[in-house]
Amino acid sequence: MHHETTRRPVAEHAEMVAALVGRALAVGRRRRTTAEPAVLLTAAAGARWAPRVLARDATAVVDLPGFDNSQMDGYAVRAADLVAAVAGAPAELRVVAPVPAGTQPPPLPPGSAAPVMTGAPIPAGADAVVKIEDADPPQFPSFEDSRATVRFHASVVPGSFVRRRGSDVGTGDVVVHAGTPLGAAQLGVLVAAGVDTIELAAPPHVLLLSTGSELVPAGGPLGDAQVYDANGAALAAGLATVGARVTHRVVPDDPAALRRVLAEAPDDVALVVTSGGVSAGAYEVVRQTLTDAWFGHVAVQPGGPQGLGTVALGDPAAPREAPLVAFPGNPVSALVSFELFLRPALAAATGAAPAHRAGGRAPLAEPLDSPPALHQVRRGRLDDRGRVVMVGGPGSHLLAHLAAATLLVHVPPGVAHLEEGDDIDYWEIR
Ligand code: AMP
Ligand code: MG
Repeated sequence: MHHETTRRPVAEHAEMVAALVGRALAVGRRRRTTAEPAVLLTAAAGARWAPRVLARDATAVVDLPGFDNSQMDGYAVRAADLVAAVAGAPAELRVVAPVPAGTQPPPLPPGSAAPVMTGAPIPAGADAVVKIEDADPPQFPSFEDSRATVRFHASVVPGSFVRRRGSDVGTGDVVVHAGTPLGAAQLGVLVAAGVDTIELAAPPHVLLLSTGSELVPAGGPLGDAQVYDANGAALAAGLATVGARVTHRVVPDDPAALRRVLAEAPDDVALVVTSGGVSAGAYEVVRQTLTDAWFGHVAVQPGGPQGLGTVALGDPAAPREAPLVAFPGNPVSALVSFELFLRPALAAATGAAPAHRAGGRAPLAEPLDSPPALHQVRRGRLDDRGRVVMVGGPGSHLLAHLAAATLLVHVPPGVAHLEEGDDIDYWEIR
């Protein structure tokens, strides 16, 4: 066991968690699932959609745009017919049948102009569109009038207002790269480019263990000296919001019981997250059992005692290694640890956005004391003057106060005291 007495800076521990988790959950190492048009469409329609990333490049099946089409309501013309047009000596062209969107027009004869609507195909032979406002007259004639003409008082650059076939993406080109989080734009372009099947990185499967012989699963009868397993629910919810699939177990402070749960871990577990059992007490089951990992102190309050490393899963004779992120058991410590260390790392790996909580800075509504050796994370909210008020004290058992707070308030190391009115940084947690 590696046990250090010096305290590791918060940023350094966060980087180490991100490196370990990022390596283990790299898209190329994850299982793949496929999704077909129904999935793309329900996702695009806003139905329930967990954050997912593409596991394999998706290539366009059709060109985008699929054909040369008009960017404007106007006239498709041959630019050559307008080369001599100037104010006072316009080019006059015969108006042929109009081209509504969704119809395939015949070729455009020289000396004529075809009314085209936005998105309608450009007739063969035409190479530019003059928008209707620039034509004379600046509105379309009655399409019953087969002898109608239109005048143009200026020449036109070939290609004007023509959206070229394939100018967004061409058939066979990568339209969305592996590793890209699938958001609205990605889902939209996959459908537009005719992609009918995509491969998704499976959501990472996280084994979440609440350790403590005092714990009772949510809803069970509560005996003397027992507490409900708040961390199981809280961390499972946090993990799910960053795209993880969670299997949760409650484990007593008994090394044999912990070993048994690890031996029985589902075979696709990519990460083990624990709460409790990492401090300096006599029955610290995580620290005492998982001896391949580092256990020590991070210079933060709450959440000082932390563990990080690897853990053996499955048959002890042929174990699989998974990364281990071990949090202390006090509920506020566990959740603040999740926010500081695991949310950003997991969100980056799963494509859940945003990876970081929105931050801000505002003056304090009250003075504040903080241990200068530590980065202190307090719970707070903004008052009606936009100043930061504390919600409860620094105690790491004050879960109801965390639930009532809207901010995590950061007091950096080196600061022992702040006055009312001093600016302070915060993260918005709601
Ligand atoms: P530990 O980190 O195991 O020393 O636990 C520190 C404190 O957190 C103790 O008061 C525990 O009872 C409490 N605690 C540990 N795990 C949980 C949990 N899953 N839910 C609620 N409280 C917990
Ligand atoms: Mg404990």
